[in-house]
Amino acid sequence: MSHNFISSHKRDFSEIHKPKVSIKTFGCRLNQAETADIAASFVNNNYEVVPFGEPADICIIHSCAVTAKAESEALRLVRKIKEDLPCCKVIIAGCVSEVVPISRLYQFGADIVVGQKDKYKIPSLISASQNSTPSKIIPFFETTRALLKIQDGCNFFCTYCIVPYARGASYSLPFHEIIEKAHQLADLGFKEIVITGANIGTYNYNRKNLIHLLEAVESINGIERIRLSSLEISTVEYPLFYFMASSKKLCRYLHIPMQSGDDEILKAMNRRYSSIDYRAAIEKFLECVPNAGLGTDIIIGFPGETEEAFTATLKLVGVVPFSNLHVFPFSPRQLTRAAKLNNPVPSRIVKDRTQKLLELGKQKYKNFAEKFIGKTLKILIEKTTSENCEGWSEEYIYVISKKGNIPVNSIVEVIPVKYENESLRADFKEFA
Ligand code: SF4
Repeated sequence: MSHNFISSHKRDFSEIHKPKVSIKTFGCRLNQAETADIAASFVNNNYEVVPFGEPADICIIHSCAVTAKAESEALRLVRKIKEDLPCCKVIIAGCVSEVVPISRLYQFGADIVVGQKDKYKIPSLISASQNSTPSKIIPFFETTRALLKIQDGCNFFCTYCIVPYARGASYSLPFHEIIEKAHQLADLGFKEIVITGANIGTYNYNRKNLIHLLEAVESINGIERIRLSSLEISTVEYPLFYFMASSKKLCRYLHIPMQSGDDEILKAMNRRYSSIDYRAAIEKFLECVPNAGLGTDIIIGFPGETEEAFTATLKLVGVVPFSNLHVFPFSPRQLTRAAKLNNPVPSRIVKDRTQKLLELGKQKYKNFAEKFIGKTLKILIEKTTSENCEGWSEEYIYVISKKGNIPVNSIVEVIPVKYENESLRADFKEFA
């Protein structure tokens, strides 16, 4: 990805009142949720937050280390900003700052390296006199959905995953703080809240679990939709399925990483289930919430993945009615156990297998979406023009409706008429 920077930003300094900061976020929804808090800490310290790519006095790279690709993109970006804007202070925060040696980060041109626990205090690190406590929430989200962080860290130590090293042990945010933040987001006009964290199914604060949290968020006026980010199957209990089945606000969609359909590989990954457990839990889920959307992650080319193991994955993906597949080639991460395993899968084979699964994923998304043709779907409008409005359904299907000038952030009812270019085309029905 390339970014354009203005190499010398001549400005009328008499007009400048506030220093400008921009933030580039890599990686998951958890990082995106945290970016909003980092931005808030700057706004509360009298900085102006500008879109990334615009001239700024400070650029923050909020990095991701989950794959080697994400890590090197972040490092390349640090270097590019320093080349294009030598006067700009570049701060690297997030997972890369925890797992890459600090000397290497400085070599790439970072001016300041900020670890996970300090990332909301950056203004005070820059100037000790400034207030470092965000006093109010600032809605810096890239979509109409607001991200609500409830938990961080993970104790599961899947053998390929850097998260336990980069984010540390699992901890749950205080229940009352989360609910207060959800109220603030509702007051700011957000209708959809995405519950996010590194391993949200482990949420537990003073015996309040994820379902208690969902009940409390559901009772907030103004919030019309709640979406769950990725959940580990070993943390999902049936009460969640029943809750979703009866809830008026919790979107009928779960993203449950499967990673492999082969039991030997699942064991080598230190996943906490077998392929049979996975399938049984999904069957139960779909029995409770028929026609729900179901997403998953699959890692291709984990060390030792034989043709038989891949076939087992392909078969399981074939029988489980997934609507969204995220397919990742295995990326060995330093510190993890899987990085030391023998039997790497040749990259040509990884590419072929990835391609096969991506094609299967496209077909499954289409099959799932087509089930809704002729039925009423509710979509949250994210994009609008004079001719169309577009957005996601509860089940996470992208829908384009032929009705112009519908305000962004409205929830509307539509009736899909056909599937085209990875989305449903629909007739507009009414405002929901
Ligand atoms: S459950 Fe496994 S994959 Fe998910 S964050 Fe924890 S260690 Fe990583």
